[in-house]
Amino acid sequence: MWSRLREVFARELVVLVDPTNPLHARRRKQLTASVGTMFTLGMAAAMGVAPRNAYDDPDAPRVQESMRLPDLRQQLAQLTDAEAGVYIRQEHMQRGDTIAALLRRLGVDDPDAQAFIVKNRTARALFDLAPGQIVQAEVDEDNLLVSLQVNLGGDAAASRELVIERVASATAAGDFSYKARVNTVDNDLRYEMASGAIDGRGFFKAMDAANVPDEVVAQMISIFSGVIDFHHDIASGDRFRIIFEAGFRDGTFVRNGRVIAVELINRNSLHQALWFAPEGGPGGYYTFDGRSMKRPFLRSPVEFSRVSSGFGGRDHPLHHQWAQHKGVDFAAPMGTKVFAAGDGTVDFVGQQNGYGNIVVLEHAGGYSTYYAHLSRFATLRQGQHVSQGEVIGFVGQTGWATGPHLHYEFRYNDVPQNPLTITLMEAPTLTGKSRQEFLSYTSSMLGRINALRTYNVLTAAN
Ligand SMILES: [Zn+2]
Repeated sequence: MWSRLREVFARELVVLVDPTNPLHARRRKQLTASVGTMFTLGMAAAMGVAPRNAYDDPDAPRVQESMRLPDLRQQLAQLTDAEAGVYIRQEHMQRGDTIAALLRRLGVDDPDAQAFIVKNRTARALFDLAPGQIVQAEVDEDNLLVSLQVNLGGDAAASRELVIERVASATAAGDFSYKARVNTVDNDLRYEMASGAIDGRGFFKAMDAANVPDEVVAQMISIFSGVIDFHHDIASGDRFRIIFEAGFRDGTFVRNGRVIAVELINRNSLHQALWFAPEGGPGGYYTFDGRSMKRPFLRSPVEFSRVSSGFGGRDHPLHHQWAQHKGVDFAAPMGTKVFAAGDGTVDFVGQQNGYGNIVVLEHAGGYSTYYAHLSRFATLRQGQHVSQGEVIGFVGQTGWATGPHLHYEFRYNDVPQNPLTITLMEAPTLTGKSRQEFLSYTSSMLGRINALRTYNVLTAAN
């Protein structure tokens, strides 16, 4: 089973991951188009056990994107034809927009409607729109507002839609009043695929070239945070492939959701992860043989971002001095977030000579971690519990430091270990009922990946 799954991914990789392959660009388009129709039903059902929001972890990075909508002119023209005398217009919210200015651009000249929007609590959600968001209005021949509709956002599975509607008055014929409501509408979940290779321009440029959205990149970094130190390990020649959810409403993109499957070939080692939510349990990422991707310690306790990724060169600056140094240095801009490498308690927070501002965490099993030269601390006190990934401070150059960097020590029974070379502590495989569920989930996944492959072979042959 595992070897078959791996085989399918491997075959797919040949074309998908090699941008120099002439079929690459064409095939990627076909995939993106086909994954939606082919995956939606089955996978949406499989995902039914998972919570609706894109991530379980409330602290996980979430990017509120303004919505990308396709050109609606054709659709609008049809609608306008259908109902004589009513015109549909759409406008982007602009920076510093007032309701009056927005309505004017929509061709609405309707003081009653405007007064309603300003007064009504629900309708006032219009005041919170971000620049770029799209507002649609139906306007009658007298430039009066018939209805107004705007997507307030949500996650990949559902969006909230504000609708303001003119309703005929019950008392006086020909008189109008307005009503506002927010509907929760289910999105169609589609599955998008992206792949690419990392070259000398770095990780983020490769993600941009493959059109992987930022919020999906952030998930990918988090998924592999227990096994890959993105600051030190990512190398030219690494390849990736990723399948993620995208929520659509009436054929219109709303937002991206969770990463469903991802693989990364890093320095010739293959890392693969699948999202899986056991019944009644929280979801998480698992290797194809059913081991949790979570590790007791992060490979890198420093935020990996566009800014920090290119900072201080891409070799291991002080790694070669490890014997004297007892730690690893992560060069990063001043103020970059420093994370607790694992769950633990604060053993020390304060100043120590050469270390400058330092946090020491104590972990289960005789492990402790040291974070030195910090510019400042998060709100921490001795004895406080911290969770893996929690921000404990910010990169600086206090103490004996020639430039901004994090000095990180990883100790076992107080003896410094080299965190770059310690053996990864693997999670045990799933057992019992969870394993059965995992197997049936992955085998249905295998079926879909196979279907995708067959589809490609067929279309490629045409
Ligand atoms: Zn150091």
